[in-house]
This record gives sequence, structure tokens and C-alpha cells, in this order.
Amino acid sequence: MPKNNLDAILRTQRAAFNENPNSSWGERKNNLIKLGKAIADNEANFQQAISEDFGNRSFVETTIAEMAIIHGGIKHALKHTQKWMRARKAPTAMQFKPASNKIIPQPLGVVGIISPWNYPLQLAVMPLIGALGAGNRVMIKPSEYTPRLSNLLKSVLGEVFSDDEIHVAVGGVKIAQEFSGLPFDHLLFTGSTNVGRIVAGAASKNLTPVTLELGGKSPVIVDDSANMSLTIPRITNGKLLNAGQTCVAPDYLLMPEREINAFSKALIAKAEEFYPKFAGNPDYTSIIADSHYARLQGLLEDAQNKGATLRTAGDDDTQVMAGERRIPLTVVTNTTPDMKIMQEEIFGPLLPILASETLEDSMQYVQEHDRPLALYWFGEDKAKREHVLRNSISGGVSINETAWHVVQEDIPFGGVGPSGMGAYHGEHGFKTFSHMKGVFFQSKFSGGKMLYPPYTEKTQKVLKMMKKFM
Ligand code: NAD
Repeated sequence: MPKNNLDAILRTQRAAFNENPNSSWGERKNNLIKLGKAIADNEANFQQAISEDFGNRSFVETTIAEMAIIHGGIKHALKHTQKWMRARKAPTAMQFKPASNKIIPQPLGVVGIISPWNYPLQLAVMPLIGALGAGNRVMIKPSEYTPRLSNLLKSVLGEVFSDDEIHVAVGGVKIAQEFSGLPFDHLLFTGSTNVGRIVAGAASKNLTPVTLELGGKSPVIVDDSANMSLTIPRITNGKLLNAGQTCVAPDYLLMPEREINAFSKALIAKAEEFYPKFAGNPDYTSIIADSHYARLQGLLEDAQNKGATLRTAGDDDTQVMAGERRIPLTVVTNTTPDMKIMQEEIFGPLLPILASETLEDSMQYVQEHDRPLALYWFGEDKAKREHVLRNSISGGVSINETAWHVVQEDIPFGGVGPSGMGAYHGEHGFKTFSHMKGVFFQSKFSGGKMLYPPYTEKTQKVLKMMKKFM
């Protein structure tokens, strides 16, 4: 699509917004219901399209990690948005009374959403829910790695929304670059940290505010006090969902050397229980593209060359697996920080374990690296848990679990530092896509006139009196 068309669509959306900048709860509710119905009516088509884009994506995973999250988000928005939309009173300092203050939430106008391929439906639609609930018009640029899903999303949304309400711009990096250069009223980008930097740079030229939902290496700290029968399946499941292609997947484990051998064997055994076969198993998801498959193999090769030990789940035919772009859980031990697998986000079913003898060592390792999108701590020792929560900085945390904090609609979802800026989901999304306008209502009886010039001795006395209230 030539650039002018994207510009023209933005202009059309902005004109439509300007005609109705204060959409009612009824209109927003109707949009959210329409969106939910369109997604539900096409569930099977979405499952099929995503699976074909991946090579294989488990239909159940699509239901759990795309459909259920979207419907949960819509249900929550339908229940609460009317309340979030209300103007609310704000306190007024003594010296300004009897004046009063209010905060009026307003839509921003036209919101842009750029989404990645790993959960291609959910990561386009969850921000859309927040943006529509806040009363905005929306343009979406989904990933070129999932063309079937992107085209289907365009046609499904195009059937129920007009182009001046929601427009889906399908295409590759060139379109993405043009898209991120548009003067949106807000731009939410989900993707890698490197591209996030480029997108933030493009948006800054228009002073478009950005929410950046990025990636990184999310650590898991396993404490001595952890309940192993809960810890092993939860880490295995969090790592192998979508074959590890999850922004909040556990990226690496930190634990004492003496526990690593037994722990890695238990992880492999659990993976084999979850997936008795990896090849041809409809439950197990393929790696999205040859380039990512090669990248993951490269990480293993580099680790092995530098002295790591690899333990692989299952005994599937490696040729067949390569043909299906599948990699079973591979636990990497004797890991050192100089290995590439410890330096870049893995985004696949490889799980390095780094020996760390004490909690202090683990905390230090985490603190010395980029602030992660997620941090996981497994254990029953409450004092240590509190220590970790208070002294580590990450986008979010799940305690005794992996990933599930992301689907809690009442807590913000977002990164910090290189893992992102800003947040959404639930009311946090509503606020991200709203302007919280502060309004001051002056009173007839304002004492402000006592501070009018010319400044005299009387003014000095008033100022002295005012200081008592400040
Ligand atoms: P990516 O950064 O390569 O691409 C994301 C989107 O950006 C795509 O739509 C792509 O077309 C677009 N894009 C690519 N180059 C661009 C450019 N120069 N200018 C503007 N847009 C451009 O990411 P990906 O490979 O699709 O997704 C994987 C990454 O996303 C991982 O790092 C993962 O951790 C992260 N991620 C983060 C979250 C989160 O919520 N924080 C969720 C999922 C994935």
C-alpha cells in the first residue's frame, strides 16, 4: 500500500473522531460486543490460520493463549469501562478552596498498534480492546510472519467495523516503517527491543507518545524451599507453551550447582510426559520460520562449543523434526555467561541453567543485566520472597508460577527499561489510551485577587499567611 493511503486513512479516522470526540458508553459497549462476537464467530478460522502460519500451532494453545485472554479482556472492559469513563473529583488544596478539581478521561483520537507474530491475534486485539474502550479510532499493523492470520484479521474486522473505526494495514517492514512514522495520537508497539528503539525514534519525530511492549531475558530463581512437584511442571509448561515463543517465557534458571543435575532430569521427564512425541504431535508448536530455527540451533552450537552440556527431551527423528521446524525441550547446563544463549532473548524451547549458590548471587546477576519483562521466583520461604519482590525490578512477577501474571486484568502488563515502557490491560489500558484531563473550577469567592499586581506590602502579608498553608 503506498504511503499516501495510510496517511489518508489516518486523516479519515481523525476527521471521523473530530465529529464525535466524546463517544458514549453505549457506542463503546457496542464496539466491544461487536469485536467479541467477530472473534468468537471466527475461532476455528483463527486457529487454522495461525497453525498454518506456524507450520503447526496447537489449536488448544490458540484457545488458551489467544481466545480466552481476549474474551477475558472484553468481559472485564464491558463490566468496568463505564465506571472508568466517569469524570472524578480530585482533592483541592486548602489555599484554593472553595474552588474544586476534576479529572475528565477523554479519548486521545487515533491510536496505532504494531503487533508481533508470536501471539498474533491476542497481541493485536488486547490493545484494541483498551483503545476502543477509551473511545479511540484504531489502525493496526500485524506481523508479516503470520500473513494468513493478518489477512483474516483484516477481513473479519473489516466486516463489522468501518475503515474510519478500525483499519488493518497488512504488509512487511516497509509498511511497518511507514506506519510507525504516522502522526498517531498514541502508538503501542509490541515486539523486540531493537525494533522498539527504531519505532520510538520514528514516533518521536511526531511527538507521538509510545507504549513499548518489548522482550528480554526473564529469569527464574528456584529457592531451596520450593515445592518441586509444583515447580517442575509449571516451569516446563511455561517454557513449552508455543514452543517457548512467548515474551514472558522463562528464559533461564538460577539455582545452586548441587541441584542442577536432578532438576534438569526432572524437567526433561516432565516434557516427555507432556509430549510423548514431539514430531507430528498436534499439541506441540513449530518454530515460526527457518531463520528462527537456524538462530536457535546456532545458540545450541555456540553453547556446546563453549563447554555446555545439552539434554534433549524425546527421541524423535531429527530429520523429521527439522522438516517440521520443531525443537524439543533442550536443557543446557554447565552454562557460562559468555555463551550467546545467556546474552540474547532465547524465544524458543531451550532452557539454560546457570549455577548460582545463594539468593544474593542470583539477585546480583539479575540486577547486573537488563531489567527483564518478567521474573519468576519459586519457593515457600516468605522472607526470601519479600526480599526478591522488593529488591528486583522487572515488568511483572509470578510467584510459584510462570507467565500467568500477564492475564490478570487488574494488574498492569508492561516492561521496564529495555523490556518496555508503559503498560496496558484493564484500567491500565484504558488510561494508556485516554487523556486524563485535569480541570480546575474557580469559585466566585476566590482569594486570587489578593495576589494581583501591583505587589505591595499587603501582598507580602498575604504571601506570609499563604506559607502557613503550603
Ligand atoms: P519484531 O520487533 O521483529 O516485529 C514486531 C513488529 O514490528 C512487526 O509487526 C513488524 O512488522 C514490525 N517492524 C519490523 N521492523 C520494523 C521497523 N523497522 N519499523 C517499524 N516496525 C517494524 O518482533 P517479533 O519478532 O515479531 O516478536 C518477537 C519479539 O517481541 C520478542 O522480542 C518478544 O519478547 C517480543 N514480544 C513482547 C511482548 C510483550 O508484550 N512485551 C509480547 C510478544 C512479543
